[in-house]
Amino acid sequence: MSYFCADCAQGSCRRHDAEHAPKNCPSFGGETDFYAGYEGEEREIARVSAIVESSGYGRLTRIEEIMDFCKRMGYRKLGFAFCMGLHNEAKVAARIFRENGFDVVSVGCKVGSADKTGIGVKEEEKQHGGFEAMCNPVWQAKLLNGEKTDFNIILGLCVGHDTLFIRHTQAPMTVLAVKDRVTGHNPLAAVYLADGFYKKLHTFSKDHGYEE
Ligand code: SF4
Repeated sequence: MSYFCADCAQGSCRRHDAEHAPKNCPSFGGETDFYAGYEGEEREIARVSAIVESSGYGRLTRIEEIMDFCKRMGYRKLGFAFCMGLHNEAKVAARIFRENGFDVVSVGCKVGSADKTGIGVKEEEKQHGGFEAMCNPVWQAKLLNGEKTDFNIILGLCVGHDTLFIRHTQAPMTVLAVKDRVTGHNPLAAVYLADGFYKKLHTFSKDHGYEE
């Protein structure tokens, strides 16, 4: 049986309540060295994250928590990889980081100005046709790696492009905001409405031809 935390009603892990934990709960009865893997920088990131969470709980917005985390970690040089569709937001955020004492190196997603056909996108698969610059998350990461940033922040990278950035970044990173063009970059809006106005989420696979 595989893990099923999303469907668990017990939450015994939050209270260290082995007695009422569900069968096959990964918290109890098996592996016990849960601190393994938290050494060196990882341990410090975990420790500082917990302090950022508790000290600003419900009070600090995400961008404030990011700055708090970076201050506490001693990260000074920030890499900022953003989507060109959010250029204005990136400009404001970069200014805020600078005003708060950080050095900011920013790279937009269209860096390289390379046409999408070079990665196998057909003309008819493009959004408009003609030259369309591909999003270039691998270069965004490589350029920031070359700048030896202490910490990278992504803003609005597309689904999949963020996957590649995350794979290639050498510095630790976090997300200021994810992209959701429909909901004002608030993907949970659709989830909150999944049993109401957004019922169509439940039949996405069928509606889009992914089911036989
Ligand atoms: S770790 Fe155990 S108690 Fe916690 S959510 Fe998962 S199954 Fe439930």
